[in-house]
Amino acid sequence: MAVFDTIRRMGIAENALRVMEEVNEACIKAGRSPDEVRLMAVSKFHEIAAVEAAADAGLLLFGESRVQEAAKKFTDFRERRPEAELHLIGSLQRNKARAAAALFDCVQSADRDEIVRELGRVTEGRAAPLPILFELNAGEETKSGYADEDALCAGVEAALGFGGLKPAGLMTMAPFTDDESIIRGAFRKLVKAQARLRRAFPECRWDCLSMGMSGDFNIAIEEGSTLVRIGTAIFGERR
Ligand SMILES: *Cc1c(COP(=O)(O)O)cnc(C)c1O
Repeated sequence: MAVFDTIRRMGIAENALRVMEEVNEACIKAGRSPDEVRLMAVSKFHEIAAVEAAADAGLLLFGESRVQEAAKKFTDFRERRPEAELHLIGSLQRNKARAAAALFDCVQSADRDEIVRELGRVTEGRAAPLPILFELNAGEETKSGYADEDALCAGVEAALGFGGLKPAGLMTMAPFTDDESIIRGAFRKLVKAQARLRRAFPECRWDCLSMGMSGDFNIAIEEGSTLVRIGTAIFGERR
């Protein structure tokens, strides 16, 4: 058991360093500064020891897709590592909004007006507003996310009615396909939506473009991603 744990930790550390290097190289190849792109370790379904191994390797931004799993896993961890950041990247149920707003530093998966309003209600009166990213549905296979730019704009209007929310950017997941042009097209849609939101809502900063996963982060970085969300390439296959 102990030997297995050590091997697993070493594997994660090695993967983390390799992915950091690959992200850096992708930035340079794309003519961008590596400082422009943050690397998130997506730890959903993986044990806390795996999270610790990634943190030891220098990764301090984590993504989880479920509130209860994240709360159970991260509560002690965050006390030990106050510098770590935790974002929600999975679709949120309304009755979990209060817990999510208390636990996460950012909700990247604001995917419908109903959840934007609920997050607004539960963050009312906060000293530090909760950063949120609006999720754009980029294709057939992914179910979550706003359908188009008009819907996104309506969602932003809803958010701006609440003082406790801070719109900070956009998130998307490209369709699962080997067709590079479809993936690239999905990322370009997000960049285009960002330009529209910048014009329509100049009072917000729209800098964060969360796009790119293990299989497509190179393309995402070429297309302007500022945050890539990597699970499998760091932690291995999820159970
Ligand atoms: C699981 C997940 C990821 C990570 O995917 P990998 O292919 O394992 O890198 C990224 N973003 C979201 C929204 C996810 O749900």
